[in-house]
Amino acid sequence: MSDQRVVVIGAGHGGFHVGLFLRMHGFEGRVTILDGQDRLPYQRPPLSKEFLQGKQELTETEFRSASFYDDHDLTLIKGASVSGIDRAERQVVVAGREPIPYDNLVIATGSRPRSLPVPGADLPGVLPLAVADHASSLRDRINAAHRVAVIGGGFIGLESAAMAAEAGKQVTVFEAAGRLMERVVSEPMSRFYEDLHRARGVDVRLRSVVAAIQGDEHGGATGVVTGDGARHPADVVVVGVGAVARDELAAEAGLETNNGVVVGPTLQTSDPLVYAIGDCARFGTRFSATAASVRLESVQNATDQAKFVAVHIHDRPTDRTFDAVPWFWTEQLGHKLQIAGLTDGSDRMDRVATDDGKFSIYCYRGDRLIGCESVNSPRDHVRARKELGAALDTALTT
Ligand code: FAD
Repeated sequence: MSDQRVVVIGAGHGGFHVGLFLRMHGFEGRVTILDGQDRLPYQRPPLSKEFLQGKQELTETEFRSASFYDDHDLTLIKGASVSGIDRAERQVVVAGREPIPYDNLVIATGSRPRSLPVPGADLPGVLPLAVADHASSLRDRINAAHRVAVIGGGFIGLESAAMAAEAGKQVTVFEAAGRLMERVVSEPMSRFYEDLHRARGVDVRLRSVVAAIQGDEHGGATGVVTGDGARHPADVVVVGVGAVARDELAAEAGLETNNGVVVGPTLQTSDPLVYAIGDCARFGTRFSATAASVRLESVQNATDQAKFVAVHIHDRPTDRTFDAVPWFWTEQLGHKLQIAGLTDGSDRMDRVATDDGKFSIYCYRGDRLIGCESVNSPRDHVRARKELGAALDTALTT
């Protein structure tokens, strides 16, 4: 039994998996996982998919049951919002509790939904979709609604729109950019999903900026006003306009931040005792054709970084750096999109389709494959991930 103490802030995809992987790798020290939410740690992807569709309940999204934490000697403290990191004393501060000391600290605080700076955005009938409580409220409100307005045509907005359309609601998506999912997919893929949504009756409005949300005296939403002054009636408004890193704790503790907690190749912050992973971390990657460092919001990234950090804390290898191939997925209207790599900055694309409607768009920069977007084609996706990883390995050894 070791007396090393690891404290993890955040019990989402990253934080939960740090605890899990530490034990899987034989770490015998103390592990404390703190989360501001008063729930067993749970998965996010089903919130905007199976849960919204009514095919799953919240308990089914939990990573593990309560006994798992006792069985693996993981101290999970729910409802414990960390208010400070005291690096000099090596402890974290939680209101109403004794400070919690650490030898290694992992910041896995995730991201928070970007707020919409327009009048009416704070009405109770206007909801983001980031945590279980939001998903619960949204499910009830969408079920009771006739017209649903979705602000933001990214993954979460479109998954919500898809669910509402499938439930027979009248859905309008307002997207400020000229195409859907602009930040993460190629133009042809945006158009494919735009056509799909339109074919299912979703009113997709591109280059449409929301200027205000209107409500009634009970706090319910009644409509959305766009920049051209037009009023669009709605009974519920879903806001999915991106997320920002929760990096304030790190910044206040004097750690380097830059729209995310800045970490080096071993995911250590500017203090080597402190790691940051998942949505809140900004790290260098060879997989981006356009940026030296990135902040990724995906289950794969949080989980792979958790695994890396668990091994790094336990084994202290000196020759390993983090460079997992990034991948993402979304599911809308029965069409699963899987993305391997980062396709931003591609200058050439190849579309490869099969007769049964499956297809993939391979994105290149010069001769180099930088990413692959596959619709209903997991085989292409897995192959592309391997190819991207192999290309990196070759680059590292030559
Ligand atoms: P999170 O999982 O968000 O966990 C962070 C945790 O930190 C939270 O539980 C929070 O309560 C806690 N916390 C924050 N501050 C404090 C504090 N001061 N004290 C204590 N606790 C704190 N990704 C995919 O790859 N595919 C998908 O299909 C997909 N669908 C998604 C659907 C939804 C609705 C959402 C919201 C996200 C989805 N994502 C998806 C993104 C993915 O879930 C995130 O990238 C992932 O959860 C990031 O993990 P994380 O550990 O960094 O942050």
